[in-house]
Amino acid sequence: MGDHITNNLAPGAPHVHASNGTLATFFDVLTLAATARARTTWELQLALWLAESDQTILGLGMVGFDVSELGWTAEAFEDQRRFLLEIIDGAMAREGWERLPFALHDATWVIALLRQVREMVERLPREALPTPHVRTWRWHDGLPEYGRCELHHVYLHAAGCILCNEAPLEVPVPHRTAPPKRAS
Ligand SMILES: [Zn+2]
Repeated sequence: MGDHITNNLAPGAPHVHASNGTLATFFDVLTLAATARARTTWELQLALWLAESDQTILGLGMVGFDVSELGWTAEAFEDQRRFLLEIIDGAMAREGWERLPFALHDATWVIALLRQVREMVERLPREALPTPHVRTWRWHDGLPEYGRCELHHVYLHAAGCILCNEAPLEVPVPHRTAPPKRAS
């Protein structure tokens, strides 16, 4: 189980595999950092994309991506890359981690993953983007429109809050996604 994060446009096509749990925490901490810092349209779209990378909605092992898929534009690529590196650094500095709905006893795996993805983003070749060949099924041009979670201060997605969905079941949270109804 788990999924891959790849950098198919870079020489040698580096990739990393992570467990579902590590990926969940990876998106939790990036969503916290991105929501706090996003200002421009692309930055807000990135914050929403991160908030939507919620395995409760997409399914376990369905949040892998290639770093070229993030809606990069030719004109603003370097600013966009700088912002993404900034939020990865913020996440590695544990920005907003006090709002995680669970105790993270061992952050080694998520920090290692953040570091590997940071390297991939640095190595993303500027001249290759944007490319029409890149699969962008999860990136869309919408802005966050559901407000923020009162508890976790992250952008909500259409079905709830990525962090509420990570909270232990006995903890009451305002935006937990209802489990899918079983067909009778
Ligand atoms: Zn929440």
